[in-house]
Amino acid sequence: MRQVVKVPLKSNSVKDIKNGYPLLVKDAIKDSEVVMQEGNLLYLVDLNGAFIGTGYYGKQNKGIGWVLTRKEKEEIDVSFFERKIREAVEKRDRFFASEDTNAFRVFNGEGDGVGGITIDFFNGFYMVSWYSEGIYSFRKDIYQALNEVVDALGIYEKLRFDTNGQYLDQDDFVSGQKGEFPLVIKENGMNYFVDLNDGAMTGIFLDQRNVRKALRDKYAKGKTVLNTFSYTGAFSVAAILGGAAKTTSVDLAKRSLPKTLEQFSANGINFESQDIKVMNVFDYFRYEERHGLKFDIVVLDPPSFARTKKMTFSTAKDYPKFIKDTLKITNDDGLIIASTNNASFNMKKFKSFIDKAFKEMNVGYKILEEHQLPEDFAVPHNFPEFNYLKVLFIKVRK
Ligand code: SAH
Repeated sequence: MRQVVKVPLKSNSVKDIKNGYPLLVKDAIKDSEVVMQEGNLLYLVDLNGAFIGTGYYGKQNKGIGWVLTRKEKEEIDVSFFERKIREAVEKRDRFFASEDTNAFRVFNGEGDGVGGITIDFFNGFYMVSWYSEGIYSFRKDIYQALNEVVDALGIYEKLRFDTNGQYLDQDDFVSGQKGEFPLVIKENGMNYFVDLNDGAMTGIFLDQRNVRKALRDKYAKGKTVLNTFSYTGAFSVAAILGGAAKTTSVDLAKRSLPKTLEQFSANGINFESQDIKVMNVFDYFRYEERHGLKFDIVVLDPPSFARTKKMTFSTAKDYPKFIKDTLKITNDDGLIIASTNNASFNMKKFKSFIDKAFKEMNVGYKILEEHQLPEDFAVPHNFPEFNYLKVLFIKVRK
């Protein structure tokens, strides 16, 4: 039997949870002596001992667990998870029926009622990401539930937790048929190769789908495009298929070169007319500036934090500087597509970073488009703080 721990909450948190706030933070707990272990069910009560909700304990960077239900009689069992997954799948029927997209998020943690777990669909295969040992302890029930709801060709998983913050390198195959990787998926008619069994990342960030489409359909035609922090070159592919004059993809990781060539080949793109540079973006900026080279469109999508031999950066601190560097190599009437997935600041703050940078450079601008998470990356109602993705299409007016 799973252990149940009674957890008294502070009155502020009682109010939040009653309003539907799904996250349990350490500070919400009234009695700091309560002992909880990964995977414990938490019987959440107010200061009078009245039931508020049932949650589970699972430490993540965001908090110490998630609320699962506010109905006292609701059991947390296979049928609970089945209901949640079925609801999530039904919400995505438009995606399942789509002819030109077959990779998307099926279950987005707290946005679909169970924080700490996400499930993505890749052309018949499912990939489950577990964000704490606590939620992973429900693995058997959740896989049983998933298999009741969907007919998966095969299931893979990512363990996004461990003791020292490192990704556990392991075989990610769970059940069903093994995939042949790279597996080709389709997104708005574009092809991308993914590998569900090759470390923490798959080759594509599905949450940027609408951004790639907008770049391809509305902006890329005839333009020179610089794709910084390009990873497997997904934005470059979209730009080329949108008729870009030329793309340059820059990423520090050695694997980015073969991976980008692979994405090009998946779309019949002649790679010889494109540039792929394996180097530090900041060195590249200096190189371009020295040579007076400028681009019509620059995509700026840095990781939230990074450490190289020479420097460390965080987007929460350094974004204005990134924009200033970018402006130096952007044409007078160019476009900057600025993106961040740093959950520690919101869209308003992000806009203030952009504004600061342009003001300090004495350059005018206009925001043409604003994107956050796409529809399949469901976010809890009324809690925009879980909508971590922020993307701005910024028209430069030098
Ligand atoms: N924009 C990409 C995703 C970027 S992931 C996409 O949409 O697919 C972040 C990437 O930044 C990683 O591939 C990592 O190798 C790269 N990176 C981190 N620090 C870097 C640096 N200083 N210079 C160049 N690339 C860097």
